[in-house]
Formats: sequence, C-alpha cells, structure tokens
Amino acid sequence: MSEKILDIENVTVSFDGFKALNNLTFNMEPGELRVIIGPNGAGKTTFLDVITGKVRPTEGSARFKGKDLTHLKEHEIARLGIGRKFQTPRVYLNLTPRENLEISCNRTKTVFDTLFKKTPQPERQTVSGLLETIGLSAQADVPAELLSHGQKQWLEIGMLVAQSPDLLLVDEPVAGLTDEETEHTGELLMALAESHSIIVIEHDMEFVRQIARQVTVLHEGSVLFEGSMNEVQTNPRVIEVYLGS
Ligand code: ADP
Repeated sequence: MSEKILDIENVTVSFDGFKALNNLTFNMEPGELRVIIGPNGAGKTTFLDVITGKVRPTEGSARFKGKDLTHLKEHEIARLGIGRKFQTPRVYLNLTPRENLEISCNRTKTVFDTLFKKTPQPERQTVSGLLETIGLSAQADVPAELLSHGQKQWLEIGMLVAQSPDLLLVDEPVAGLTDEETEHTGELLMALAESHSIIVIEHDMEFVRQIARQVTVLHEGSVLFEGSMNEVQTNPRVIEVYLGS
C-alpha cells in the first residue's frame, strides 16, 4: 500500500471567525519536493503551522505517514520526523558550523553537554559529511557570525538534516540571498530531496522554476491550483490572483 507522507484533508483554521485555511486538502508522496506559492495572506504560514502543531485545525484532519497530527504537541510532531526551517536563521552565532551541527546531532542533550564532551560525540564523519553537503567545509571552524546570510541559511538547513527528519519544511530560503547563493540553495535542496520529502514556501519565481517539479498555489486558505511551473504560469485563475493582488 502506498502511504502518503502527508495527507491533509478538509482542514479549516478559523481565527475569530476568519478562515486562514478554508477546507484545504493537500497530499504528498514520499520523496517529493513540493513548492507552495501564493499571495500574501493566502495561508502558507498557517499551513506549515498546522503541520508542525503550532496551530490546531478547527476542522479536518492532518496525517503524517498515516499518523494523526491534530492532537500532538509540537515537540511530539518534531520527534516523528518533521523539521521546520524558519525564514530567519537560528544558528548559534558564537559557535562554529561544526559545533552547531554537533549540537543538532545531539538534539536531546544540552549545549553544555555537547560542547564539554559529557556525552558521546556524534560521528566526526557524520558532521564532516553534513558540512560537505551544505558547502561549508572550508568554514567549518570559524564562528558562525562571520558567515554570509546565505551560508547561515545553509548551516541551518544542515542543522535540521542532522536531526534526520523525513519531511523538511523550508520557509522562504532565498529571501535576501545573492544570485549565486540562491542557485546553491536550489542545488542543496534538490540534493536533499534525493533522501527527504521537502516542502518549500517561496516567492522568488526564478528559484521556484529552478527546483520545482510540482507547485501548489494557495489562495484565500485553499488550494487554487496544482501543477508544473509551466502549467501554473499559464493558468488563467493563477494569473488573475497574482495580477489582482
Ligand atoms: P501567508 O503566509 O500566505 O502570507 P498566513 O498564513 O500568514 O498567510 O495568514 C493567512 C491569513 O490568516 C492572513 O489574513 C492573516 O492575517 C490571518 N492570520 C494568520 N494568523 C492569525 C492569527 N493568529 N490571528 C488572526 N489572524 C491570523
């Protein structure tokens, strides 16, 4: 039986009567890299909040690998294998990329324990491999505060991957990045998609074109359209929503 990695059915989220999500249905096969686009206020952030348990649906169901998420707490959902990257990198700036990744590999331990070796260190190979994957081997041992904005984003993506999630949620990973950094981010996400399911929220359409096979367009809390980037860009309803916003 093929099981969806994510199965959201008829989810509504009401804030004081206002429907941030309105009867939204969405599902994804394991191993997909899906990009979600939509005008401001379409419900993209609320959608991720429902998946991570930050916001509870008023109606509907949300399942991850068949497991009902709607009654779980945020940390329980994270432990099931869902990792979320927010727009602003949350790395320890006074630590090096290597140390940041070591801490993430030992997420259940305290920062102190990890740094002062009170617990077994993660395999050096694992951390070195991650540094290579994210393209920061050369910066492995400099304080993270010296990294560019793009490098910090990649480090945070590496920190999520270090926790071995099955599903990665990535919110606007290329906002404020240079063209080169944007391209590297796309390559990194596509490489990670070989072994993870990934949802990316993004506004940068060039970037969406670079990485996306399947795009979901949200509008007013519902799915307006799903298809390839070519289909999305030529769909009259999508064009109307974007031109009208
Ligand atoms: P997007 O990420 O696509 O810009 P959001 O999910 O942030 O959209 O918001 C969808 C709609 O829900 C917006 O109109 C927003 O103002 C509203 N909204 C989001 N969170 C809350 C909240 N906690 N209380 C009231 N309204 C909210």
